[in-house]
Amino acid sequence: MRYSQLFIPTLKETPAEAEVTSHKLMIRAGMIRKLAAGIYSTLPLGLRVLRNVENIIREEMNATGAQEVFLPCIQPAELWQESGRWKLYGKDLLRIKDRHDRDFCFGPTHEEVITDILRKEVRSYRQLPISFYQIQTKFRDEIRPRFGVMRGREFMMKDAYSFDCDEEGAERAYKKMYQAYCNIFKRCGLSFKAVEADSGTIGGSYSHEFMVMADSGEEAIAFCDKCDYAANLEKAEIKATDSYKKNEKKKLKSVETPGMTSVEEVSSFLKVTPKDLAKTLLFETEKGTVAAMVRGDHQINEIKLKNITGCSEINLAREEVVKEISGAPTGFTGPMGLKIAVFADHAIQQGTNFVTGANKADYHLLNVNEGRDFSVKNFCDIRNVEDGDPCPKCSGQTQLKRGIEVGHVFKLGEKYSKSLKATFLDKDGKEKYFVMGCYGIGVGRTMAAAIEQNFDQDGIIWPIPIAPFQVMVIPLNVNSKEISNAADKIYDHLLKDKIEVLIDDRDERPGVKFKDADLLGIPLQIIIGDRTLKESAVELKIRKDKKIEKVGIDKIAKRIVRLLVSDQL
Ligand code: ATP
Ligand code: MG
Repeated sequence: MRYSQLFIPTLKETPAEAEVTSHKLMIRAGMIRKLAAGIYSTLPLGLRVLRNVENIIREEMNATGAQEVFLPCIQPAELWQESGRWKLYGKDLLRIKDRHDRDFCFGPTHEEVITDILRKEVRSYRQLPISFYQIQTKFRDEIRPRFGVMRGREFMMKDAYSFDCDEEGAERAYKKMYQAYCNIFKRCGLSFKAVEADSGTIGGSYSHEFMVMADSGEEAIAFCDKCDYAANLEKAEIKATDSYKKNEKKKLKSVETPGMTSVEEVSSFLKVTPKDLAKTLLFETEKGTVAAMVRGDHQINEIKLKNITGCSEINLAREEVVKEISGAPTGFTGPMGLKIAVFADHAIQQGTNFVTGANKADYHLLNVNEGRDFSVKNFCDIRNVEDGDPCPKCSGQTQLKRGIEVGHVFKLGEKYSKSLKATFLDKDGKEKYFVMGCYGIGVGRTMAAAIEQNFDQDGIIWPIPIAPFQVMVIPLNVNSKEISNAADKIYDHLLKDKIEVLIDDRDERPGVKFKDADLLGIPLQIIIGDRTLKESAVELKIRKDKKIEKVGIDKIAKRIVRLLVSDQL
């Protein structure tokens, strides 16, 4: 392609609204433009990358035996009412009405639609297993769209769905997809980790998230420094240890703490550390109110609490509920005398002489001890993992790093086939529910994540397999016949070799061309100028390390082909 004929509106300045590198660089490199919050237009250069990612995904999906479909993005409300998600999905679901006042939504995902097809068309176990995928626009009305296409409202997703006769079949489908995901992200040139993720309280289901490691990632990932245990923050388990020293139980004391409700206020007022405090929080659930206790320096993990209490709805108790149950305003709750179930973190069992709320306005208690002053229904793991916590699988320590979730594989079981009554006739003639799995990849997010892992101060450094072009030919002066001719020759030769090449045929100063070339991040640059041309040579620059070598004109095409298949880039 010729630069002069390609629309690449590059920018010198960093756009003010962009927070993360990939967003800044995608705008500066003329790949995307914003239309509205979380809604982006993809320009030609961006689309080339997107298509490369899509093609890798498509090849690997086809290799699993999944069949490509294209499902509607507008979906009737009735289907969502049937699955129960019309209510549950909340405000992320963009609801629309047609001219007859009928309710529809713009699909944020497609479990309902695909299950509807299967329940109508697939009758027998003989037609199973079967799986489908599509690459298509989704809409989720995210509360905080940000980071460009990384967390958009309208975005491109590959979603796949598997249907099996039984658990074993579903397990095989899951493993196949898991492996396909590893292949996809590896082929995209990304460094990633598959981590265990929470999949809520749906029986028999589990999931893995595929995380690209990057400091700008929205998710914290915990992984062991010794074994291969890795999980996201919501899920990462903490092994209970008894390493915490037990001290002698001291006498219970009440102290006045006027207006002090936070851990920081109370600990600094009493001249103790947050570790010496035990905070008690009340949660309203569908089964009534429960109390959860963690050490002052720890954070409650609501997902773990949900799983342990078996509740699907968990919300911090409203002020009036706190008052009714504890007899004091929020901030002064303690475990003593509470008449509801108390779930306490292991660290509470391991500690002594805690400072807690006194269940009396403006008072806290000193030297509160479990067993003597209050009792606990269940000691459990209900807090977020922290750097240095013991690994649940070995004697190693947990470390935390940030990551971007680019993909998600999820064993659904019978969740949707049951709610949508999707059945088939099994070998024994019995009607059974399909056992399902669903599998998503954010295509735009994968593209952005690749930039987060591959850039320098001058711009993007594309991994070869998803680069918009593999080679950029840069004639330094298009008004010189010799330079132009030499550049065109190399360009034609590379095209014949089926290499994707961009020639910067613009009448621009070398400085401008160099800057744009580095910004666009095409992995190889061939620079053609007077000086080297005199020696029948050109300069070959590797974008990644900026190394420049002189290569004879007649050897350049061969050198490029060799480089592209090597793992040097
Ligand atoms: P997140 O926790 O980031 O909101 P999710 O759990 O809602 O993701 P899934 O429903 O599993 O995501 O969707 C499958 C994939 O779609 C994700 O792994 C991610 O790569 C992509 N994705 C999800 N939401 C967005 C979004 N708002 N913008 C871009 N890509 C997204
Ligand atoms: Mg989400």
